[in-house]
Amino acid sequence: MPKTSVEMATRRETRQIHVGNVAVGGDAPITVQSMTTTKTADYEGTLQQIYALAGAGADIVRCTCNEREAAEGLARIVPRSPVPIIADIHFHVEMALAALEAGVQGLRLNPGNLRKPEEIKLVAQEAKDRGVPIRIGVNAGSLHPDLYKRFGGATPEALVESARMEIAYFEEVDFHDVKISVKASSVPTMIAAYRLASETFDHPLHLGVTEAGPPPAGLLKGTAGIATLLAEGIGDTIRYSLTADPVEEARAGRQLLEALGLRERKGLDLIACPSCGRAEIDVITVAKAAQDALSALNLPLQVAVMGCVVNGPGEAREADLGIAAGRKKGHLFIKGKIVRVVPEDEMVQALVDEAQKIVAEGIEARIAAADQGAEKEAEADRQALFASQGEDANHSEEVILEIRRRIGKADDA
Ligand code: SF4
Repeated sequence: MPKTSVEMATRRETRQIHVGNVAVGGDAPITVQSMTTTKTADYEGTLQQIYALAGAGADIVRCTCNEREAAEGLARIVPRSPVPIIADIHFHVEMALAALEAGVQGLRLNPGNLRKPEEIKLVAQEAKDRGVPIRIGVNAGSLHPDLYKRFGGATPEALVESARMEIAYFEEVDFHDVKISVKASSVPTMIAAYRLASETFDHPLHLGVTEAGPPPAGLLKGTAGIATLLAEGIGDTIRYSLTADPVEEARAGRQLLEALGLRERKGLDLIACPSCGRAEIDVITVAKAAQDALSALNLPLQVAVMGCVVNGPGEAREADLGIAAGRKKGHLFIKGKIVRVVPEDEMVQALVDEAQKIVAEGIEARIAAADQGAEKEAEADRQALFASQGEDANHSEEVILEIRRRIGKADDA
């Protein structure tokens, strides 16, 4: 009898790590990652992109931390991000230390760029002390020159050796909270490197074809590499690297996992803010109530539940619909625009009613039907909260001062 489906290989067993509240490896669902393209110092713009990425399917988001201003941006982003943040570190050890100070849930180190053993061990020690995992992100394009010479190029063996050497440094300080990537822009090289990595390490593997280029070719290259490995049971977290809006990367990652039956298809997509010093409600309780009420209707919408009216509608402006709390009221917004203000105890019901109307009438019609005066009332609530809570509800300034102190010290060293 002909086979009607291709069987996926049993997933290779890896140890499990946690990036914030997201498990990677072991029996955890395979996760989707993406990376912001905004300047990390522009924390409001970066947060909006993080929300858009989370809405498109990203479970974890990486932001570059290439300068002091970026580290300071992270201090403001991390408490408000709906998903764990990984700081991308290239050449500067002090950036890794500053990102840890900012509270990131993960680091990515490129062994080809950060090369001094004492610096690598210093970062690993501090990550260990803070319980933060590190991705060893080997990249064929920036392989350590010694390895390039020794192996005669960026071969799969050279990429895996680079990861092995980095792990050896980590082990010297008893740090094991690691995942690994061995990316290349050549799909055959990348596939061979990950196969070898999977035989060599039991750490979780982060899959990706680096610098895959713009879609559709970039999508095809990414899919060829990532899907081949996933079908062999290799890989714990994935990222498409596209020359495109990163929302496309997150969407592609999610769709690939759904197509392979590795993640469930989403109908309703509910995102909730993590709740921070500005929260005016118990976000978890309200998000759960909204999830229960909306799931039963199975509406194909992206809905945001946000803890405060000061930042919530702006952060989640990409969501179709959302609710933000403030001063015992719920601010209902569509694509970031406030359309209604309701008493707090009616906000979940208002959200459900509006979701049904959006599906029936369309987003434009519902924005056009916004209550007169809703924007004005919302703005008054925002200003009142801003005045009572001050500008720095998350005490990010204290963290930033510490970052400046550390970077100053590292500069002196
Ligand atoms: S409480 Fe407000 S500022 Fe804090 S994470 Fe939620 S929406 Fe963002």
